Amino acid sequence: MLDSKRVGLCARCAHNRITTNRRGSQFYLCGLAMTDPRLRKYPSLPVLRCEGFELDVQSNNQGRENESHE
Ligand code: SF4
Repeated sequence: MLDSKRVGLCARCAHNRITTNRRGSQFYLCGLAMTDPRLRKYPSLPVLRCEGFELDVQSNNQGRENESHE
């Protein structure tokens, strides 16, 4: 998986969908782009500002748990 510095906001966003091609490369797909024409289906990474960003609380909590175990 791409590290969060290379991905930017999408790494912590509730709308991201990670897809993998046949060669094993991973892409961040924006699920919100299906209904919001301002957004790109495959955003240019890293995304530093985004009007559609919504914090994915579940993944954010997992990140904190991982940090506390390191
Ligand atoms: S809404 Fe923005 S931050 Fe969230 S997945 Fe789409 S492009 Fe990334």
